[in-house]
Amino acid sequence: MAAGLDEKLEPIYQEVLRRNPGETEFHQAVREVLESLGPVLVKYPEFADRKIIQLICEPERQIIFRVPWQDDKGVTQINRGFRVQFNSALGPYKGGIRFHPSVYLGIIKFLGFEQIFKNALTGMPIGGGKGGSDFDPKGRSDGEIMRFCQSMMTELYRHLGEYTDVPAGDIGVGQREIGYLFGQYKRITNRYESGVFTGKGLNWGGSRARKEATGYGTVFFTEEMLKVRSDSFDGKTCVVSGSGNVAIYAMEKAMSLGAKVIACSDSNGVIVDKDGIDLDLVKQIKEVERRRISAYAEEKKSAKYLEDGNIWTVPCQVALPCATQNELNGTDAKTLIKNGVIAVAEGANMPSTPEAIRFFTEAGIAFGPGKAANAGGVATSALEMQQNASRDSWTFEHTEERLREIMVDIHRNCHQTSEEFGAPGNYVVGANIAGFVKVAGAMVAMGVI
Ligand code: NAP
Repeated sequence: MAAGLDEKLEPIYQEVLRRNPGETEFHQAVREVLESLGPVLVKYPEFADRKIIQLICEPERQIIFRVPWQDDKGVTQINRGFRVQFNSALGPYKGGIRFHPSVYLGIIKFLGFEQIFKNALTGMPIGGGKGGSDFDPKGRSDGEIMRFCQSMMTELYRHLGEYTDVPAGDIGVGQREIGYLFGQYKRITNRYESGVFTGKGLNWGGSRARKEATGYGTVFFTEEMLKVRSDSFDGKTCVVSGSGNVAIYAMEKAMSLGAKVIACSDSNGVIVDKDGIDLDLVKQIKEVERRRISAYAEEKKSAKYLEDGNIWTVPCQVALPCATQNELNGTDAKTLIKNGVIAVAEGANMPSTPEAIRFFTEAGIAFGPGKAANAGGVATSALEMQQNASRDSWTFEHTEERLREIMVDIHRNCHQTSEEFGAPGNYVVGANIAGFVKVAGAMVAMGVI
């Protein structure tokens, strides 16, 4: 059962449902933020008078376009491309591009909406947006990926720009895809505009530590939550869902802080390795060979592969959902709590259902919501933009240290805000309010636009 909404906020939510039919993930993301905002309207009545919440729920611009391309057999394929430019009160739209067959407008809108508040929390001058396509990159050749990316950018380029909209990667979009997208942008515009894309390769304008940033940042945020409880990662058993970009580097940092990671997954199944996950092997399988995670158990005798398994049944003290939205439901949350979990942090966007979040909160589990816990990726993207603007390239150590400071600041901001608004230790409330107040203040200052 969902928590109730403030009487001023319920009609706003009903209007969002009416205006955006069928977009269930978007509804879920909006509701989660609105549930935190009641006390904000008491402290800042001008936000209600100026209809800031209604404005923030309506994207500034939504672009949907056809992406035609030819596969290796010469057959024409047709996909749909999206870019939702949600809010530019704090800076150019910023947010990743996702390639996954599940992508439709509702997914891109939920991600873009979350991105507004996440980007505000980083303290960097970036607005919120998100894009993607229902293209499925699995099993596609390198040539097919390139032709698809080029076709997508042939339309998308006119909506981008370093002062307008700056995409990055997300599910299904890593450095290879960013290379093809950026290359086509450069070709069409005849501009080497490094700051128009982040997540670039190191020798063509990328930032050190960007690849690691989301996963590392999630672990830094979790470390801060544990510190509040006079605890640490050292000696903790940890489970990380997914085995993509975020999951791999969350595992890496958790291990370096003394945790034992015993399970990870992909969309086909779960790997459990009681000896601790061999991360070099996961990287080889996922980053180099692009195979399924089941290959891990073929190489490692200490590991078990659970086809269609549920990773949240593996007992652990720290759980990091790093795969996709709504991958951890109420039943999973109860199982984790029963098995002794003490901290959960979302490396993925909205991986926990509202019911799961409620169970974690009621049980007093340290729970880090995605818009705070995984903000390290976009924060480091903003650092990449800084390096591009100054034609500079920082060391790994310097960039990682900046990332760590930003995550510590985000944690402090969320924690203090949760206390200020009467929900101490509730990072969902803290993140939603701190992010919202910053964006709303800028929107009031800029008038009705
Ligand atoms: P990725 O490299 O493509 O990896 C995604 C991982 O999640 C893969 O292991 C994938 O398994 C699994 N997965 C995807 N869809 C799934 C599904 N429907 N069911 C089960 N497993 C699924 O993507 P990523 O960049 O790590 O992104 C992971 C999450 O982090 C997403 O929620 C994304 O929005 C969020 N995030 C990413 C960044 C970033 O910097 N990359 C920043 C902030 C937040 P398969 O290979 O089997 O599909």
